[in-house]
Amino acid sequence: MERGDLDALIEERIQYTIRYANEHSPFYRHWFREHRIDPSTIRTHDDLSRLPVISGAAVRANQPPARKDYGFLSAAPEDIFTIHETSGTSGTPKSFFLTWQEWERMAEKYARIFVSQGFGRGDRMVICASYGMNVGANTMTLAARDLGITIIPTGKCTFPIRTITNYRPTGIVGSVFKLIRLARQMQAEGLDPEESGVKRLVVGGEAFADESRAYLAGLWGCEVFNTYGSTEGTMCGECTARQGLHVPEDLVHMDLYDPNLKEFVKEGECGRIVLTTLLPVGAKCGMLLINYDTDDTTVVVGRDRCACGRTHMRIYTPQREAETFWVAGVPMNRVDVERGVFQPGNMEYLTGEYEAFLYAGDDREKTVMRVSMECRDPAACDRDSVAENFRRSFFAAKPRMRQQSDQGLFALDFYFTPPKGLELSSLPGRPKRLTDRR
Ligand SMILES: [Zn+2]
Repeated sequence: MERGDLDALIEERIQYTIRYANEHSPFYRHWFREHRIDPSTIRTHDDLSRLPVISGAAVRANQPPARKDYGFLSAAPEDIFTIHETSGTSGTPKSFFLTWQEWERMAEKYARIFVSQGFGRGDRMVICASYGMNVGANTMTLAARDLGITIIPTGKCTFPIRTITNYRPTGIVGSVFKLIRLARQMQAEGLDPEESGVKRLVVGGEAFADESRAYLAGLWGCEVFNTYGSTEGTMCGECTARQGLHVPEDLVHMDLYDPNLKEFVKEGECGRIVLTTLLPVGAKCGMLLINYDTDDTTVVVGRDRCACGRTHMRIYTPQREAETFWVAGVPMNRVDVERGVFQPGNMEYLTGEYEAFLYAGDDREKTVMRVSMECRDPAACDRDSVAENFRRSFFAAKPRMRQQSDQGLFALDFYFTPPKGLELSSLPGRPKRLTDRR
């Protein structure tokens, strides 16, 4: 769709969505009345900034046990097809209610992503993302229905290698680290991932450094595409042009806000991702979220037509705000550490598994970052060269950290462990790779 037509469609859907919120969402109906806002005056993208930015905390505050009903539930209970909960790593799990139409819209978003990556009739995809309370794997599976793709729903990356040799999948959906481990397991069993018939890997769930993508692509000898999705219904994905992730702008509206969540950032600047579900006129929605703060940050790459022909805006891989720490006034993300680990010269010695900790130095002004890296064989690892490669790439990407280092305010410290020697190896759940212990 041309930009002008797309913008007109977005406006039509913003107006319907706000009307729907006023009619069906107890939270928003109350909010409009309390703030004396006439919902019919919210007509454009700019008008959305007059509505509150809400976060996961607002969702939790409007559900049990904080209150006895669900303030964000925005459809009749009998119209709800499934009920989900977020993982709850940061407290009470958030409840999400989905109508069947929302399943179809999520599947539509994944279907577009897969098509834009070159998947089609005759492809076979292993879905390693977990099923259950997570909507991603389920709706990816539904996406295959209209594309003629066969799904192998393993739900995890630790499946028998016969899944590869017997069914010859052409694509795998998983996370970077799990796909690295799978390749290693195949090599250990005498199977070369490059010979496996897998043509494309689709990764998602977390930000990663270009270096780790390149390493993964090299291991499998195939293309690696990034996706970004969440229970709230964003499903963005890279197309074959790989110039950022396309946002399904007709179904989800994405604004980028300043750190105080007061104003939109200027085009091209990094901002917090704030989402609004966009409902097609007449659609129902089980859990309507307007101006929802994701805690993730990104930058708009462009709103012009992509080399692939699509007009939907493109964004950089979002990073988690929770994985960004400030060291002497400089922001640093886990991905900055990962880049240092995955330097090409390092991967001869390392498995790619790493964890880093920020400590206060003897002098309280000083920060020490201890980076622990898992070696394939600690005795054979050229530690000086790995440390040097890390330092060089880390400081090249973070020149202000080099200044801090020269002034004695920041130091890097390296540890090398045997396989399974990292602290995160013995902890359950999503690995925390950068921890602030200052
Ligand atoms: Zn594209």
